[in-house]
Formats: sequence, structure tokens, C-alpha cells
Amino acid sequence: MDESINKNHRSCPGCGAQLQSTDPSLPGYVPASAMENEKVICKRCFRILHYNEVQDVLLDGEDFRTILNHLADEKILIVSVVDIFDLEGSWVKGLARHAMHNPILLVANKVDLLPRSTNYQKVKRWLAQSARELGVQPVDVVLVSAERKINVDQLLERIEELRDGRDVYVVGTTNVGKSTLINRIIQSYNKGLEGNTITTSYFPGTTLDRIAIPLPNGGVIYDTPGLINREQIAHLIDVRDLSKLIPRGEIKPRVFQLQAKQTLFFGGLARVDFVEGERQSMVCYLSNDLQIHRTKMENAENLLAKHWGELLSPPRKEQLAEMPTWKRHRFSIGKQELRDIVIHGLGWVAIKGTGAMVDVYVPEGVGVSIRPSII
Ligand code: GDP
Repeated sequence: MDESINKNHRSCPGCGAQLQSTDPSLPGYVPASAMENEKVICKRCFRILHYNEVQDVLLDGEDFRTILNHLADEKILIVSVVDIFDLEGSWVKGLARHAMHNPILLVANKVDLLPRSTNYQKVKRWLAQSARELGVQPVDVVLVSAERKINVDQLLERIEELRDGRDVYVVGTTNVGKSTLINRIIQSYNKGLEGNTITTSYFPGTTLDRIAIPLPNGGVIYDTPGLINREQIAHLIDVRDLSKLIPRGEIKPRVFQLQAKQTLFFGGLARVDFVEGERQSMVCYLSNDLQIHRTKMENAENLLAKHWGELLSPPRKEQLAEMPTWKRHRFSIGKQELRDIVIHGLGWVAIKGTGAMVDVYVPEGVGVSIRPSII
């Protein structure tokens, strides 16, 4: 056989994925420098083998649905991980249909981002309600922070109670922090083992490659690949700007006293016009690093034309040509109503109760919705 062809089509002996050096986020990635070695396993298998550490593998819609289809045939507990800061963008679509009769435990990660004054019970009620609107009746909602190790042990206890002897599948879209959570779970089990470490194992498969973590009382937790959600606003901007968009620590609410006919720009990614209503405060819950600019509504168009990609960024100037056109979403909020207007993937604006008409402009494809205020 021609050696070069053979080399180009090598697959990882650990997971069976075809080896490649182009995209670290896809299955089978090996740094180009290691590709020449005699024995090569992919970076992900390498880390599992040597560090007992899991890295996420990503899948696009169709392959992911194959996994979900498979779940319907088993008796399992499904743990669906979402990003508390971007529920809509991190929701696994079709989960309800594919889960069939299996119970779903909803885990909202990144609770550390919410201001400390948050009423967590209210947040849980909102999550349960939103899940029901999306067709899922969760058996429970648990708030965690994988990164800050908040509530992870409580989550494991809850899983143990709810699984009732079943195996557990953890599902989620990319960026919800699923790998961080899985690694915390592994650490947490290791704590109880005094010197020994549990060994995760990797189940190679064509589309259903999954990591198995043995549970102390028998059974396993499976980590499934992360689903890519192309509608996330993060896909519109340069990776170097992601840190401005994705909050890294507790969000400091920013309060603006606005008159009608005033506008707020959130970087260059969203424009919020206060069209009608009495003078009132709007509280913005966004990444602390995302600049907010206030202007008059009549100047907004001009400001954008002159400063988009510079003062109003992200996006960067060189990305503007690829940006989708702006689309308007209009919301009318009655007197006495406390509402959050949510810009999916960016954050939300809380409007407190004297009645308002608000227009939100975002690049087409970015979702905008309204909900009762959660904070
Ligand atoms: P995955 O794609 O779902 O596996 O997500 P990762 O585990 O790679 O995490 C995605 C991003 O979210 C990373 O930048 C993490 O640092 C961050 N992240 C994960 N868990 C938390 C958390 O509990 N709180 C916060 N604020 N960020 C988190």
C-alpha cells in the first residue's frame, strides 16, 4: 500500500476518529508535530489516558441527533447542562422528543455569573418554566458552577437519588461548561478514593463516542459530544473578542436612567431604542467587559455608520462585510410589569414597570425574547 495515502488516512487507535491536524475542536486532532510519530493517538485520547481528563468533542446537528435517537431506546437519566447566562443559545433542541420516557435533570451551569443578590429559587422556577415551554418537564433543576466548584457535590447526590440504578447521560451544547463539569465530577469521585483514581474509559464508535465514568454505586455516567449551535452570537465575532462577550466573573449590573428616544449600543452587536415611555431605569446584565454607549435615537444610525467596528465593537472592522443585516424586534411592556429583554448569548436588560415600548436591533439570526425578570 502507498505509505503516504496510508498516513493521510490514519485513525486514532483509541477512538477510531480519523486523525487530523487542522481543527483542535474536532475529533481526531493531533498537533502536526506529533503526526510524524510512529504511534499516534489523538490529543483527546492522550489526555484521557495520561491525565484522566476529558476534552469535549463537538458534533453538528445530524450526528448529535443520532445520539439522541439512541438515548430513546435506553432506560437512563438524562442530565441536560445549559448555560444560565444563555439558556436559549445553549438549549439542546429536540431533547424532549428524543428523551421519550426518560427523566431529565436540568443543570444550569455558571451560576457564579449572577449577581450575589440573586434570588436563586426564582431563577430555578424560571428555568423549570422555560424548560416546560420548550417541551421538557425536568424532574429537578440544579444550579452549579463547574469552574468555581459550587454545588457539584450536591448535584452528584441528586443524580444518585434520581437515577434509581440507571446509567446517566450528560448532554449539552458547546461552551456550556460540560467538560469542566465532567472533570469536576471525576475529581469529586477521586476525592473519595484515597490515593486511587477512577479511570474513565473511552467508548469508540462512529457517531456515539462517549466517555464513561464509573459510579461508586454501580453504573456509569456517559459524557456525550458537545452539540455545536451555529445560532450562537459567539459565531459572529472574532475568537479574540470572545472574552469581551462571555462574562468571566460576577456580572455587575449597569443602570441607565433613560428618557424616551434614547438608545443604548452594546458594543456593536445590539442596539436598544427606548421608543416610548416615561423616564425610567434600565438595568443591563452583560459581560462587564462589553462597552455600552448611550446616544439619542436620532443619532443612532449615524453613530453606527461612523463608528461600527471601532468605538462600537465587537465585531471588528474587518468582519463587518460578513455581518448579517440588522433586524428589529419590538416589545411593549405594560405598567407594573417587570420584564427582561434577553438578547441570546449577550445578556439582558431589565425594565422595571412604568410601561415602555422598546425596539431591539441585532444582526439577523441572533435571537431576542422577553421574560418576567429573574433578578
Ligand atoms: P464545553 O464546550 O461545554 O465542554 O465547555 P467548557 O468546559 O470548555 O467551558 C466553556 C467555557 O465556559 C470556558 O471558557 C470555561 O472556562 C467556562 N466555564 C465553564 N464552567 C464555568 C462556570 O461554572 N462558570 C463560569 N463563569 N464559566 C465557566
